[in-house]
Amino acid sequence: MRLDVVSIFPEYLSPLRLSLIGRAVEKGIIDLGVHDLRDWTHDRHRTVDDTPYGGGAGMVMKPEPWAEALTAILGVGSEVPDGPEGSPTAAPASAESGPVGPEPAAPAGRQDRPAGDRPLLIVPSPAGTPFTQAHAAELAGREHLVFACGRYEGIDQRVVEWARDHAEVRLHSIGDYVLNGGEVAALVMTEAIARLVPGIIGNPESLTEESLEDGLLEYPVYTKPAAWRGRAVPDILLSGNHAAIARWRRDERLRRTAEVRPDLIAALDPAALDRRDRAVLDEIANADPSGLAWGDRPD
Ligand code: SAM
Repeated sequence: MRLDVVSIFPEYLSPLRLSLIGRAVEKGIIDLGVHDLRDWTHDRHRTVDDTPYGGGAGMVMKPEPWAEALTAILGVGSEVPDGPEGSPTAAPASAESGPVGPEPAAPAGRQDRPAGDRPLLIVPSPAGTPFTQAHAAELAGREHLVFACGRYEGIDQRVVEWARDHAEVRLHSIGDYVLNGGEVAALVMTEAIARLVPGIIGNPESLTEESLEDGLLEYPVYTKPAAWRGRAVPDILLSGNHAAIARWRRDERLRRTAEVRPDLIAALDPAALDRRDRAVLDEIANADPSGLAWGDRPD
């Protein structure tokens, strides 16, 4: 997978060189490029922002450096320069990793490629679609992801519109709160995506029963010692009865999800619930007078 991140604070992305993702970068499973947006400016002050049209507080990121950066990184080919000082297409020498894109810039966009092979531009934004585990799983199969990290009041809207002519573009939010910039959001999303790329997590089985993989949260986990500060590990986990352990874990997933995320329970497909699942959910619903809604409650 090729992963490019553009920011005015490239140092913010240094965690991408650590831990499992860092190792994947070292092994070449992920081909990482971290880019300083200011490398695509042409004035003495390396300006990336300006005052908002229509007035109001804060600054807005200028379209020109973004278009030049994305032209080079997405490999979408050159366009008419933005002004006398504009000269799009060339990759600046200071990008932190080798070539800016997997291929040299093409004269036209990449619309002729199959959708999954086209570069995907992700713009972190509190106004974007909430990012979920399902998105992470889908994006783990993509060849080329590019994150455009906004700052200030965000990026001039025309950049997104222009980019849509050349690449698939998605705005994603990582939650209902406002961060100072897109870097942390890009780190969150890249970590969620990259750990699902084959070869990154040593034991892929550890990914299958995780929270949210099938609409439920994970069961509680325990390790040695079996008794600790007066608290024992549930007996069932020491029983060696794998079927009973699997059932206990499923019950705990249902209970925990019902308690913390009733919205996930409401969204469950009733056809995916077995008789025992329904009994557990009924037990929880009966214990809670406010009532837990789940599926269509088939008989
Ligand atoms: N004025 C913008 C608004 O109200 O939607 C917020 C701008 S925020 C201060 C600066 C940048 O942080 C955004 O352009 C975006 O890249 C990033 N950001 C902030 N909150 C985010 C969130 N919840 N999810 C993803 N990105 C976020």
